[in-house]
Amino acid sequence: MKIERIETLVCNARMRNWVFVKVITDQPGLFGWGEATLEWHTRAVVGAVEDLSELIVGEDPTSVEHLWQMMWRQHFWHGSGIVRSTAIAGIDLALWDIVGKVHGVPCHKLWGGPVRDTIRTYCHLGGGRLERFYETPVDHAAQFAELAQMAVEGGFSAFKSMAVPPTMPVEGLKPIKAADACVAAMREAVGDEIDIMVDCHARPSPTMGMQFARALDPYGLYFLEEPCWPECVDSLAAINAAVATPIATGERLTHSAAFRDLFAARACEICQLDLTHCGGFSEARRVAALAEAHRIALAPHNPQGPISTAASLEFGFAQPSYMICESVHEDVPWRRDVVQESFAVDPQTRTVRRGDRPGLGVSIDEDEVERHPFEQELPQRVFYHDGSVGDW
Ligand SMILES: [Mg+2]
Repeated sequence: MKIERIETLVCNARMRNWVFVKVITDQPGLFGWGEATLEWHTRAVVGAVEDLSELIVGEDPTSVEHLWQMMWRQHFWHGSGIVRSTAIAGIDLALWDIVGKVHGVPCHKLWGGPVRDTIRTYCHLGGGRLERFYETPVDHAAQFAELAQMAVEGGFSAFKSMAVPPTMPVEGLKPIKAADACVAAMREAVGDEIDIMVDCHARPSPTMGMQFARALDPYGLYFLEEPCWPECVDSLAAINAAVATPIATGERLTHSAAFRDLFAARACEICQLDLTHCGGFSEARRVAALAEAHRIALAPHNPQGPISTAASLEFGFAQPSYMICESVHEDVPWRRDVVQESFAVDPQTRTVRRGDRPGLGVSIDEDEVERHPFEQELPQRVFYHDGSVGDW
């Protein structure tokens, strides 16, 4: 069996262009789906997939690890840059989808699974509609409470909020109090049985991240995400050591050596690896093994399209330390029209029961994808009060 060609299908979903990767074999009807969505880098990823195709077209698609090594190590530059690693991930996921189809089993069964019956999911406030998640102002604590209640009414037992505003390297009490008020309002609205997460989006400096973490610690957050830049591993470790709240990070890391350094410093309790950015299943399984050795839990980053979700769930059905999966369900109203999935979501609890279709278990409606061609992603830029550049 040989890889005949690799195609990319771009599907504009407002905030993101979903990049679906289709690896087509020379066996009639046998192909695999992967996803390589990277917001604001769409054309670069499509080009990177094309560059990688040159290495692996004509090769056996079931030699996944061998092909992964080629993609990562050949062409001189290691595949750790975010564009290259995302393109590798998209192809790697599609190769595993093919292997599952060849053997007639879901991907999780290829890795010794299943290890659980169901997977819990959490939502973003607003279900993934970007204005509600990213643009609810932190001085509107009541609005956070209202959106939190909506998430719970939608069946979710856990949700994530952006209750921490962008801040300059050092600011006074105002943003800390605003974040505190938002989390207090959400906790008051949903009670103690619901798990609340706060995403700092790596906006704070280490000192501001420490202040937010300490202020929010009494609310028993399920986790506090990216309290400072991912490059500041020592500062993440200091924050993780200073508070009882588990620190979560890892969505911007692209390879196992970066995760090794993160875990060795005990800079998090929860690893948010992204299956579509950190080299696909092949590298993610190495990262998961490292996490396991440190007793660090897995909660994958997954705000992208439906193939990313299927991959994140297949992974979870084979990983013992996996605790919850991020999900978006209201980013675009036609999301359900693009994909048919193998797994089933219980609308009462938003837990997922695994399916038994082979590989990733997804079929994509390519006509529906064509109805949503590439558009430039909506700009999301942050400037501080004085006009200087902040992190989005
Ligand atoms: Mg995040």
